[in-house]
Amino acid sequence: MLTAKQIRSGFIDFFKSKDHEFVPSSPIVPLNDNTLLFANAGMNQFKDIFLGLTTPTCRRVANSQKCLRVSGKHNDLEEVGKDTYHHTFFEMLGNWSFGDYFKAEAIEWAWELLTKVWQIDPNRLWATVFAGDETDGLPRDEEAASLWTKATSIPAERVLAFGKKDNFWEMGATGPCGPCSEIHIDLGPDRCDKKDVKGHKCGVNAGCSRFIELWNLVFIQYNRSEDGKLTTLKAKYVDTGAGLERIAAVLQKKKSNYDTDLFMPIIDFAGRLSGHKYTSNLNSKTDTAFRVIADHIRAILFAITDGAIPSNEGRGYVIRRLIRRAARFGRELGMHEPFMYKIVPVVVGVMGDAFGEIKERADHVARVIESEEASFGRTLDRGIEIFNAAAERAVKAPQKTISGDDAFQLYDTYGFPLDLTELMAAERGLNIDKAKFDKLMEEQKERARAAQKADSFIMTLLADVELPATEDLHKYHTDRCESKIIGWIGPEGFKGQGQVEAGDDIGIILEKTCFYAEAGGQVGDCGYLKSPNGQFIVEKTAKVANCIIHRGHFAEGTFDVGEKVTAIVSKDRNATKKNHTATHLLQWALQQVVGKSVAQQGSLVCPDYLRFDFTCPAALTDEQIKKVESLVREKIAEDLPVTCAAMPREEAQKLGAMALFGEKYGSEVRVVAIGAESDKQIREAFSREFCGGTHVDRIGVIGGFKIIREESISAGVRRITALTGTGLTEYLEQRSRIADELSAMLKIPPESLAGRVDQLIKENKKLSKDIKSAARQAGTDTFTEAKQVLEKCEKIGETSVVIGRLSQTSVEQAREAIDMLKKKAKSAAVVFGFDDAGKAVLLAGVTDDLIKKGLSAVDVVRQISPIIDGGGGGRPQMAQAGGKNPDKIDQALADSAEFIKQKLL
Ligand code: ATP
Ligand code: MG
Repeated sequence: MLTAKQIRSGFIDFFKSKDHEFVPSSPIVPLNDNTLLFANAGMNQFKDIFLGLTTPTCRRVANSQKCLRVSGKHNDLEEVGKDTYHHTFFEMLGNWSFGDYFKAEAIEWAWELLTKVWQIDPNRLWATVFAGDETDGLPRDEEAASLWTKATSIPAERVLAFGKKDNFWEMGATGPCGPCSEIHIDLGPDRCDKKDVKGHKCGVNAGCSRFIELWNLVFIQYNRSEDGKLTTLKAKYVDTGAGLERIAAVLQKKKSNYDTDLFMPIIDFAGRLSGHKYTSNLNSKTDTAFRVIADHIRAILFAITDGAIPSNEGRGYVIRRLIRRAARFGRELGMHEPFMYKIVPVVVGVMGDAFGEIKERADHVARVIESEEASFGRTLDRGIEIFNAAAERAVKAPQKTISGDDAFQLYDTYGFPLDLTELMAAERGLNIDKAKFDKLMEEQKERARAAQKADSFIMTLLADVELPATEDLHKYHTDRCESKIIGWIGPEGFKGQGQVEAGDDIGIILEKTCFYAEAGGQVGDCGYLKSPNGQFIVEKTAKVANCIIHRGHFAEGTFDVGEKVTAIVSKDRNATKKNHTATHLLQWALQQVVGKSVAQQGSLVCPDYLRFDFTCPAALTDEQIKKVESLVREKIAEDLPVTCAAMPREEAQKLGAMALFGEKYGSEVRVVAIGAESDKQIREAFSREFCGGTHVDRIGVIGGFKIIREESISAGVRRITALTGTGLTEYLEQRSRIADELSAMLKIPPESLAGRVDQLIKENKKLSKDIKSAARQAGTDTFTEAKQVLEKCEKIGETSVVIGRLSQTSVEQAREAIDMLKKKAKSAAVVFGFDDAGKAVLLAGVTDDLIKKGLSAVDVVRQISPIIDGGGGGRPQMAQAGGKNPDKIDQALADSAEFIKQKLL
């Protein structure tokens, strides 16, 4: 029996034998493509080739692509756990022809691999072809149909034709497209899940699970233009995709993908963790939980490995949702503590050989998952109770619907993603009032938007205008250049002519510029633009598509479109350059000290400081920080040269340049190398990074380097803030001023500060300890004294009239003593007096039963406070007075006794 590993490599080897080149899977998180949250098909990384934007370096390629289908056009989340062959994460085996072979080879090879190499019974296989489409004027794909019957052993009755929905593939509303041929397998009549549905007939694309799709062969031969018309492409492409998990189930003769060696180790492990047993039953609740957990852990692990981090929006929220769903299914198996992170090594064991990146980042991934599970775990159990209550209300309601308010509360307070609540509702046959939920969501977003007035400038203007491109290569060589105004952006959007109007936030567009626009963590430049007619202060520079926008306001005059101006970048950029090159030095040094597992997660480079976020298992020790600092400083002292060179991505990768995330296939990248005199010596450089930022020419000018902060920003991700150049000088100056002030204050030299402060802290600790124990002593004394007064006190019926003078005490202690007496005596009127450093204090307290009889502590205090030359007040239960005459305390106490007795008798 073939293992999944053998099937994967068998596929690639088969196509290698047909002259294909292996191309690694692109990251599942396509960070350079904002139109796509996650890779969902093998073709994603080749999109630009199909669009004619790049030329392929090789015309035949094959691979196994990591795919995630949980969002957008392809979303299989609903199916996961309920069927045997849809996953969120799966591997898509694929072979491609970029203008090379076409339908004949694609069909023959697919058939050869399935039936000859893998020996699947050809009688179980079915093929489909495109049936044609009248509105598009497309004919039936006769070419494919006849290839199937002639070039393979499949009989004509098992080649079926279907319409556009099933057998025509389009990349989007416009662009490359073409017919496809799918290969389906018949798993036998007992695999049908629609037996109970009236009129159901098993068949390909008939909606039951007896027939499932194994492999899709797409033949890209048309291009759809804006007007919807199709034209025939000169170059034709083949794009195929076959699900590894489905092939594995067939070849391993399993009834379900989950029973294959891709999933069973995970399920077995979850079984040992939970003490439950997996029985491979589609209708069992616990089995569903096993399947969901096994599915989700793979998706979560691969996405976090490739750079996703759980968060509240976009990609991060998709991952958060998956973790939360899995956590909730864990509850079904009785797992209430974080458990998903424990499965990470098992998945690494299954797939780490094919995808080395998951081995490398396993520790980081486990930490991120654990912390996410722990934080959701704190509210999950409570949320489940809230859900149960909401569900009970819904069951009683006529529409059997969980209210939008309940769903929103679960989302907002308990972190339940809507799809989780929906799923839990569906398990009980309930719906959710989604309209109301959406409305509440929208209201919340509106509140958030109003709260943080966004920088809407770029958003509004870019709605649909096409902005002119700016030539901006000058940013690398100069900070001053002559240019021409070609347009501007004001409150009404882009203008390509006329006079620039004054305003607080105007965007000027030049033909060419030496300003650096914010990118790759480096802030945009500031500076100014000037001509004989005006001067414009540039506060920041931004890039939209290929247009550089200089944003700011006029200090004087104005410009006309077409006018010549001089662009001058602020001297601040020198500081930014130092910080940027220092960031590269820092990453290098961190890898030396912590290890290769340090990978950049983000950075910010500005004139004042630099910030670097990176994966790291634990906080850096003081020693590690010192080591990193001294490595960077040593390099700076060597004053090595910095060389920047553009080159094809593969070449840069061969050189071992560090990339933040994968660039597009075949594109050119810029490599910044420290320690290389020229392009030729890049190999010798000790630091090489993909980077589009501005850098110093020689690192000696960086001057100094100091880490001023090291902190955690999320699980497994640390942040370092550091200073160089003038930023560092200012920081050190300020520190030394503080030291001078302190040494003046303590009248000792700065070198002795540490010792003296240490001594002061110790003294202080001892003193406060002494004070506390003295106070504690006084407190016990007051209590004892108060109890003695109670023992000897007069009684009126059940009521104790406790009146006495306390020796040493404080108002707080006396109050506590009164409370204590009130509890002890049940019914009591208490009056205490004492001398507080020359002032008289009187306190009265009465129990509630006496208040009902008309005795109030306030009245008592009012009655006697004039005697001590003072006044007071409070509540009926407790009142207080202060006065200038402590000699009269005893008399006041005696009078209070009289007053109380009168009231109570
Ligand atoms: P289906 O109709 O079964 O959902 P599809 O038409 O969405 O499949 P394609 O987009 O053509 O599939 O993807 C190519 C191949 O990838 C499929 O033939 C199948 O083998 C596999 N595949 C697609 N979606 C999944 C999934 N969610 N889980 C596992 N494998 C999948
Ligand atoms: Mg599908």
